[in-house]
Amino acid sequence: MSTPEEPVFTLSDMRAWNSTPPTVEGLPVKLGVFGDPVAHSRSPQLHNPALEACNLGMRYGRMLVQEGELEEALRILVDTGFVGVNLTIPHKVAVLPLLDHVDEDARRLGAVNTILIENGKTTGFNTDGPGIVRAIRNEFSVDLRDLRVLVLGAGGGAGRAISAQCVYENCERLVLVNRTLEKVVALRDELTPVFGNQRLLGPFERFAAIPWEEAPLRRELDAIDLVINASSVGMKRSDPPALPAEWLSPYLMVYDTIYNPPRTRMLEAAASVGARTANGESLLLHQGALAFEIWFNRSAPLEKMREGLR
Ligand code: NAP
Repeated sequence: MSTPEEPVFTLSDMRAWNSTPPTVEGLPVKLGVFGDPVAHSRSPQLHNPALEACNLGMRYGRMLVQEGELEEALRILVDTGFVGVNLTIPHKVAVLPLLDHVDEDARRLGAVNTILIENGKTTGFNTDGPGIVRAIRNEFSVDLRDLRVLVLGAGGGAGRAISAQCVYENCERLVLVNRTLEKVVALRDELTPVFGNQRLLGPFERFAAIPWEEAPLRRELDAIDLVINASSVGMKRSDPPALPAEWLSPYLMVYDTIYNPPRTRMLEAAASVGARTANGESLLLHQGALAFEIWFNRSAPLEKMREGLR
């Protein structure tokens, strides 16, 4: 079973894999996650029990791959017969031009979090988009399509995919928020032909892109049901709350895609005003189950995966 003490491979470890393929506890590592940071990733806890339950004879590992190292790292996986890999910060968008094929839905969502390697070719998929639909339904017993949603960090890899999924679900209203405003203005313009931008009753636009600043955020939060934090603010214990308690109301649902730490300062702030809260463990579970299905073309042992996270 995977433990947090499992090794984190670096690119210099990976360069030796052609002569010495990686193993953990005697089993070949054939799947993994690329990211920076990556040591916090709980994906091995999800996938290793599933690989074991299905007798697939392989392990899932973590690889510290920095910006600029992605192309070489990907080539090593292809050359050493990997089944596939997940991507996290900062690779989900940067990987697009490096792939042989990109699945239609991933192209639409603008980011890739799962790669399948078959016959020496890479194909990119996105399971964060469909994963968030399942996660929100599980956590709050509501469907995204019935909600007015505000996405923090909508310009990042996960944020883009989640925002585009909201559009394709035709949710009631969507507000894109990002520190770098240009990214979400471009995303809104790209998605407006699909989503439309008619004015709702009252002062609010159906589809807005705003900077991560107090005045526009507080204004928009007045007409929102669900906040999703898809930014990395909250991953470090020293981070401020992505949204402070004074800006939040008890009727909100607040979902943080971060699962480590399990209770970010934003979730603490939301709980302190009586809002309903959930962390990203449910997204981790569902995006992981969908990735497993892509890699092995069979249904994922969801309960084993859920148990692995406990
Ligand atoms: P990414 O592509 O690097 O995007 C990072 C996002 O965070 C960008 O929107 C960035 O804004 C924003 N950001 C970073 N530092 C900030 C700051 N100090 N103030 C305001 N915004 C800031 O990363 P990603 O892969 O999308 O991942 C983002 C988060 O989603 C991570 O916390 C990750 O753990 C989480 N996630 C969780 C799951 C899950 O399974 N639970 C799945 C996917 C992602 P700029 O555009 O301005 O740089």
